[in-house]
Amino acid sequence: MPQKPIQKEALKELQDALGEKNASADPGLIEVYSYMNSFMSALFGVWWISPVAVTLPSSTEEVGKVLQICKKYGLKAKPQATTWMFTSLACTNDVVILDLRRMNELVEINEKDGYVVLDPVCTSGVQQVEVMKKGLNCHVNGAGPNACILPSATSVQGSGGTSQSMSNSERNCLGVEMVTTEGDIVYFGSPGTPNAGWFCGDGPGPSLRGMMRGAIGNLGGNGVFTRCGAKCYPWYNPPMDCHGKPPFFEVTTLPNFEIRNIIWPDWEREADALYRISEAELTDYFARLGPGAYEEVMSTTNEEYMCMQDSELYYNTFPKGAWTASIAGSCPEELEARLKTLEHIVEDTGGIVIDIADLGTEVHSAMYQTTLRGCYIFKAAFMPTGSWGCFTPMSYETIDNILKVNQPVNEDIKKRLFATEAIEFNGVDNTYMSLDEHGHFGHCESAFQLDFWEPKEECLSGFVIGVMEGVKNRIPILYSPMPTNGRELLDYTKYIGKVQMLIDPSGTMDSMMGSLMTIMKDLDDIDELQALGEIPQLVR
Ligand SMILES: Cc1cc2nc3c(=O)[nH]c(=O)nc-3n(C[C@H](O)[C@H](O)[C@H](O)COP(=O)(O)OP(=O)(O)OC[C@H]3O[C@@H](n4cnc5c(N)ncnc54)[C@H](O)[C@@H]3O)c2cc1C
Repeated sequence: MPQKPIQKEALKELQDALGEKNASADPGLIEVYSYMNSFMSALFGVWWISPVAVTLPSSTEEVGKVLQICKKYGLKAKPQATTWMFTSLACTNDVVILDLRRMNELVEINEKDGYVVLDPVCTSGVQQVEVMKKGLNCHVNGAGPNACILPSATSVQGSGGTSQSMSNSERNCLGVEMVTTEGDIVYFGSPGTPNAGWFCGDGPGPSLRGMMRGAIGNLGGNGVFTRCGAKCYPWYNPPMDCHGKPPFFEVTTLPNFEIRNIIWPDWEREADALYRISEAELTDYFARLGPGAYEEVMSTTNEEYMCMQDSELYYNTFPKGAWTASIAGSCPEELEARLKTLEHIVEDTGGIVIDIADLGTEVHSAMYQTTLRGCYIFKAAFMPTGSWGCFTPMSYETIDNILKVNQPVNEDIKKRLFATEAIEFNGVDNTYMSLDEHGHFGHCESAFQLDFWEPKEECLSGFVIGVMEGVKNRIPILYSPMPTNGRELLDYTKYIGKVQMLIDPSGTMDSMMGSLMTIMKDLDDIDELQALGEIPQLVR
């Protein structure tokens, strides 16, 4: 059933608060803000939901006003930055979008203490360009320099190729300012103490950041974060410089910076090497691309992509996918020592190191920008069909579980779906993977291409099989780093839902977790959830 338009009085109050042109319920404009299915809406019986109004607040105070008006009229509020995550769209009926693009400043670079203070829609690209001028660098999550740091620090997950040396956005998150639906402006960490600065996200007292975001982020369900501090890291080279036209800019080669591709013949040896490379703290950017993703990165048109597929250029070069590693040394000696150690480990584990410079100027340009600015992963995601997905389990896991438990599941599903032509062929092994903090833990996604205008039901079956196999093998699924059995996953949802109810008792935020809680509303205590923990047995 089509939803009712926003109440006239509510729209008038929003326009009075923000200015007429910054709050609109124009049907054409609303459609622009519902460019895809937000996933959760389907649980409420509506496949594709549009918001009832869109607002453009320009300050913390204006954000507060929008939330209060939403609360007064029983509307839902959904903050969004650059909308790379589907949960930034309306998930239920009666949603007012807070498009925060007018709050886009890099507020402060604290060179001495190595952190920045950011508005919600300061992109990681902008942040990186500015901090590099000061001898600092920052993590750019795998969504690329076009996405923002604040949402991935406070509300989503934030991993990428530079997680190896510069951690994940959520772990780099320092002080936070947040507006609640109760009308409070809340500070987490040091900014709560006047004049203390934004150098710390905790205290005094226990850390509230886990509560603020949960394991994979609260996905816009707790309130609106209006400012955050983010940790930066040392950068010993000059700022990155490039000229020319996209997609393959001409890059100025940096003095103490090298990039390599590395391949191993099988999962066993790849896993052994990853443990050793991580432990030796050798690489700055470290992530894996399958041959299909390489083609998607390197082709500029679909025709070119098809030619690459026919010639099997990258399948012959990297049949089992390749890791891309960058090393940024503080001096030539450090660079050389790290490179030599890397080469030694790779040789010892039966792999091959390829100098990116040997793969031609276009590969060199693309990999330079990928390792420094996370530029090309998302291009791969949308070439050539315009849409993509990932097969489960996906997950955050140990190197062994990713490569030896997840991968066989992913490969089996892909082989079946290629056979029925439910998905486009892009290689059985098209696994993207990154590692965290020179440790044994990382993230993987087995990406596939599909045309959403012609979805075939088998594609969904692949997703379901992956989830079930993940649960059966106790492997975390989706972006979740949590142990997976039915009970623990439901316990998590329940607790996060409870936290959201404490922070937003009126239920004004358009929360994905809140939506799940509504579905589970009869399950009032954890004992009842535990009864549901029989899911793994059902799978068997
Ligand atoms: C092709 C592709 C590749 C991706 N790769 C990665 C990857 O490698 N690693 C990774 O971590 N993520 C990845 N993502 C997921 C996601 O895009 C990123 O996490 C990204 O950083 C989100 O930033 P954004 O600025 O687009 O936020 P949005 O998508 O606008 O928002 C993300 C979520 O945060 C909420 N939110 C936004 N701003 C606020 C605020 N101020 N207060 C409260 N809630 C807020 C939104 O409601 C939404 O639920 C990828 C996405 C795509 C499409």
